[in-house]
This record gives sequence, structure tokens and C-alpha cells, in this order.
Amino acid sequence: MTPRRRLRICVHGVVQGVGFRPFVYTTAAALGLSGTVRNDSSGAIIEVEGDGPDVDDFLARLVDHPPPLAVLETVETQMIPTVGGTEFTIADTSRSDGGRTLASPDVAMCTDCATEQRDPCDRRYRHAFVNCTNCGPRFTIIASLPYDRASTTMASFAMCADCAREYADPTDRRFHAQPVCCPNCGPALRYRDRDGRTAYGEVGLSSARRLLADGGILAVKGIGGYHLACDATSEDAVAVLRTRKRRGDKPFAVMVTDLQTACGIVEVDEPSARLLSGQQRPIVLMPRLPHAPVADSVAPHNPDLGVMLAYAPLHTLLFGLPGDEHGPPVLIMTSGNLAGEPICFADDDALERLSHLADGWLMHDRAILVPCDDSVLRVVDGVELPIRRSRGYAPLPIALPIPVPPTLAVGADLKNAMAVAEGKYAWLSQHIGDMDDLATLSAFDAAQHHLRELTGVAPEVLVVDAHPLYRSAAWAHRNAGGRPVHTVQHHHAHIAAVMAEHGMDGSERVLGFAFDGTGYGHDEAVWGGEVLFADYKGCQRLAQLRYVPLAGGDISVLRPYRMALSQLWANGLPWDADLPPVSACPADERRALKHQLETGFGCIPTSSMGRLFDAVSALIGVRQVVAYEAQAAVELEGLSRRVDCGATTYAFDVDSDASPSIIDPAPVLAAVISDQRAGVAAGVIGARFHQAVADLIVDIAVKERDRAQTIALSGGVFQNALLLQLSLKGLRNKGFHVITHRRVPPNDGGIALGQLLIGNSG
Ligand SMILES: [Zn+2]
Ligand SMILES: [Zn+2]
Repeated sequence: MTPRRRLRICVHGVVQGVGFRPFVYTTAAALGLSGTVRNDSSGAIIEVEGDGPDVDDFLARLVDHPPPLAVLETVETQMIPTVGGTEFTIADTSRSDGGRTLASPDVAMCTDCATEQRDPCDRRYRHAFVNCTNCGPRFTIIASLPYDRASTTMASFAMCADCAREYADPTDRRFHAQPVCCPNCGPALRYRDRDGRTAYGEVGLSSARRLLADGGILAVKGIGGYHLACDATSEDAVAVLRTRKRRGDKPFAVMVTDLQTACGIVEVDEPSARLLSGQQRPIVLMPRLPHAPVADSVAPHNPDLGVMLAYAPLHTLLFGLPGDEHGPPVLIMTSGNLAGEPICFADDDALERLSHLADGWLMHDRAILVPCDDSVLRVVDGVELPIRRSRGYAPLPIALPIPVPPTLAVGADLKNAMAVAEGKYAWLSQHIGDMDDLATLSAFDAAQHHLRELTGVAPEVLVVDAHPLYRSAAWAHRNAGGRPVHTVQHHHAHIAAVMAEHGMDGSERVLGFAFDGTGYGHDEAVWGGEVLFADYKGCQRLAQLRYVPLAGGDISVLRPYRMALSQLWANGLPWDADLPPVSACPADERRALKHQLETGFGCIPTSSMGRLFDAVSALIGVRQVVAYEAQAAVELEGLSRRVDCGATTYAFDVDSDASPSIIDPAPVLAAVISDQRAGVAAGVIGARFHQAVADLIVDIAVKERDRAQTIALSGGVFQNALLLQLSLKGLRNKGFHVITHRRVPPNDGGIALGQLLIGNSG
């Protein structure tokens, strides 16, 4: 007989609200082990006792096959004296001993719950709020830890006897599922039309479905806020939504019920299929199929379509269960807000702010505590590339390569996401948005408070972008209360973010290409085409795109033809009337612009790569005026994919005598113009331009090979899948180790991660 052993196992990570204790209980029971499991504020503590091999087996199962939503960060074991006994118990008491446990993100409805929702014999048949320990809202309904019902917005719903029994039964799928409820005790659906007429439950639901089928616009309360929904197959419905939302040409995301429907509208490769149907259920950008039954106005001029699968039980009801009347198979699901405002998540606010946008409201009485937009990803070379990290991902921690003191990094002003960190963990907030109005600023304030509550981090250090006019930085200075506020250069932070993601501890310096639209440089210029030799402590600007004047600031961002004219002027190329941006620029504006460029009045020098993409897009007649950020580059990329460049190549000049080296686009622009005049298709010119930028990256990397073996690619320009693919291919062919973003976005939504490390490495 093998001697009995008793093992204490401390598990840290995401282990509360994910069915961890029932898993431990059933695993221990199956092995005939006695002992206990309890939560504490730092995770779960397990004691198991039994025969040695069984105890080992238990530990292996725990580590290798934990429940699907659990994230085991650390597992510490310790032999302790045996105490005997035959029972395994789940201890209910939660004791605080100063550690930290982690909240789970919101999780899409699981297949077990979906099955129950469709089963006429199940007591949760057609339940709009079905959930269990494996799925349901978490982040958006928890005020603070420890995670129990009292600290969620389900606190006001008393469980019925049946739900209470499931909740208390360690062998039940709903054991301690905090949002557990059923049609008898859970939240109630309510539909309201424009005239304030209200219908409840199934009657309300069918009114909402009828509104969609009739081409109306429905405000639907989801997990992280209100969506505006309409029939995506109807040009009329989409046109009305576009006008009301003041959306310009900006693409809308769509929702479908299943993978099969998605495959009928976009090209779904295997990694995209996995992302689409995973528990996070993000919006995945995929190439739109030529004859997809989706209105063109859903994403005008855009080669891609953002698609997500229904993720809340209410969504599946909205599409209809077997037996329901057929509704639209594809729905637009866009954030419930006016362009630029934060997403609506409170009912009163939704009724008021969406009153000019929606024809009806499908609401319920489970409150959303914090708003959380849908996440957006795309797949490049089989690997996921986050564009917006929000619902389903926040607040999962990101492991840091080096420990930091308790810190808050406020991020950037565009696509803001902040982060808190302590020790070797960072927690990025959900997507907050552009910090250009009071509403976003208050959303920022609420989100950082919530994030601190969920993580227990009490920041002793604040980190901000170096831009003197950023509202995020001003917020930090206002709220510092004597704590140090460290300033970090924008593009350095981009590179540090991708280094941190890849676990680099700062002992190796990288060659970083930080290409984006805009970021404040030390010399007060607008940077964005930067080659940096960097670690966390510092960075050296090895090369930059040659400065051109950005005349009049934002107006030149909105009108790419101005950037084209500015590039022509800076490179000594004439403004010939046959060039598309010249004819697109009204004569008065052209005169004023010329004057500005000659005198420098209202001009800021910029090395932005994003603006160079704008200029090329305008030069070949793709896009002269944009309605949303990066539209000119997005359309250029769309035309340039899967196009054969032929033998012709374009090449940048690099002046290596200068310090930093100056990347001169003049020969590229001259070639673009000459091809354009020769009638070469825009897609071919675009493909040659993308290849030239990729070649530039490879050439510089080769030249600097003695300095750095690792190449880091970051900044919003690397959301461009074609450029990223070409750059990766070229660099790998030359034997470089290349790091790109997988966990945080390459755009400004990922910058807080870099700020955390640089801000603490002085
Ligand atoms: Zn479930
Ligand atoms: Zn119930």
C-alpha cells in the first residue's frame, strides 16, 4: 500500500466564476481523494489527500485539463501533514489574504446553453438570459471582486427555488454561476416603439423581429452596450441607418447566426472560422465574396466585411429559433451611438440619445455596469492580428517580461485603451474610444476606476504620451495627486508594446519600424515613419521618412489630395492638371495651399507613413476625401491585393549620411505618376507601392543587421494585411526574427502596454 499524502495547491489566475471549484470537486471525487477547495482573493486553494499516485494524477488533470474558461497563471504545491477523512468539500468562506484573483471576460453563450434554449422541454426554452459557469456576462456586470452575485448587476434578482438548487449543487453546470437565472426569476425583455408603446417577453421580441423584417432600425441591448441593428441585405434600411448615424462611408459590422451563413458572405479561412466561433466572438475582418447577399452600402468601396456570430442568447432569439418566422439572415450590428460618441449602455441614455436613430428598442432590466464594445480582429498569414481588443478579451491579464510597480498607463488619445499593472501582470482596459469629447473622458474615468476595482492595483506611478495636448495626459496630471507622471514618446511605446507581448526582458535591443498616422515627436513634428533602435530604457531614431508639410493639420488628414499636393511640392514635382489630386483640389484651395506651403504658415512637418499612403491613394485616383480614418489606405490595400506587380519595382532613396537617415519617397512618387500616366491599373501601382515599402523595411534591416537581429513591426499602418505579409516574407527570407502584434493592437489601442514598461525603466 502506498502511503497517503496531502498536498496543498494554490492556484492563481482566472479561477473564479469559471466553474473551477466544481471541476476540482468532481475530479477529486472521481479519484477518491478527500480534502477541500476554497476561493480566496488571490485565487483558489485546494487540499487533496489520498494515495500518492492518485494525488499526482489529480495534479496532472488540474494543470493539463482545467475548465475551458480558467486561466492558470501559477500553480504552487506544498506537502502538508495528512489529516484523514473521506469527504471532499467545497468550502464557501472566502478569506482575504492580500493576494489577487482575476475577473473573467464576458463569454459567448456555450453550446450546452444554446441547446437548452432550443429545447421545448427545457425549463430555459427560449430564455433570453440563459447562462452557466462556462458562459455569460462577467466583466460588464461585476463591480468588484471577489466575484459573487452580490457584486454583480444580478444582485437584485432573487433566485427561484430551482435556480437556487442548481446554484448550490457542486455537480451542476450552474454551481456558483453568479448570473444564473431562468424565465421565472431572471431579467425580463421589453420592447418599446417610438411612441412609447411597450410590449413584454415573447410579444416584445416578435415586435422587434417584425421591425427588422420591415426594414426598421432596432436598438438592442447586448452584453457591453446597445447595438443599432437593421437588415443588412436591404440597401434602403442600411441607407437610413447611415444617414441617421452620420456615418459617412465607414463600414458597418454585421452579425449572422452561424458559421455557415458567414461562409456565404465572406471568405472564411480556418483560423478565421476558429476566431468567429470561439468564446470571445469578436468581429473578424474577412474578404467579402463577390455576390454576397449583403447591401453594398454596408461597407462601400471596402474589400472586407467585418462579421461576427451571434453571441448573446438574445441575439439568437432575434434571428429566430426553429419554428419562428424568417427574419433577415444578416443584421448590421453597430455600436449604439452617434459617430464619435461612446456606446450607450444605460437604458435611459439609450432611449434619449438613440431617439433620432432607432425606430424601436429591445431592452431588459439586467443592468450593464461598464460599456464594452465588440472586439475586432483579422487574420494575417494564419495568425490573428487584433484591431480592437475589447469584449471577450478585457480584462484578461497580459504577462509582463519584467516586474513593474503598481502603475497606470493612460494610453493615447485616439482609440484609447488604458492599462494598469503590478508585478508581472498588466490589465488592458476595454476600448474607450477617441478622447475628443467630455463623454469619452468620463467613460475613461469610469473605466479606469472599474479596472482598479477588478485588479486591486493602486497605481503609484502614472505614464502618459509625450503629446502636450493629449486629454489622457491632462487627465493624469490632474489626478496625479503627487504621484510621479512619466512621459513616453509615442512610437517608442508602439515598439515596446510589441516587445512586451513577445516576452522580451529588455536585455536585447530591437530594430523597430513604427509606421502610423500620427504621434508627437521630440522635435514637435508629427512623426509616423520611424525606424527606432530600441529597448525599454531608450531608443535611437535611426531613420525617418522625409518631412513634408502637413498644411492645416486635420484638414489634410481628411483630404488626401492635399497630402498628395504637399508631397509633389516637397519633391519638386509640378501640380499638373491631369493628376487626380490636382483636379480634385478646388482652385481656391489650391492657391491657398500653395501659399501655405511656400510660407510655412499653418504647416507642421510630418514623417507619417500613413500620410504617404494617403498621398499615393490620391495620386492614382483611388480616394481624394476620407470619411473615416485610414480610408484612403484601406481602399488602396483592397485594390492591391492578389495583384501581380510585374517586373517593375519602385524603390525609396535612403540618405544614410544624414543622422537620422532620411527615407526619401521622391523616386517612388515619380514612378507612381509615370505609371498612372501610362494607364497602369491603380491596383498594380498600389501593389508596387506596397512592395516598395516592404523592400524598404528589408533593406534597412539588412543594413542594420550588426546592430539588431530582431525586427519589431508596430503602428497602425501594420493593420494593412498586404504590407504586413510582404514585410514578413521579405524579412524572413533574409533570416530575421520578426515580432508583430498578436495580443494587443498595432494601432494606438495597444500603446498603453508599451508605456507601462518604458515608464518604469528610467
Ligand atoms: Zn453556458
Ligand atoms: Zn430561476
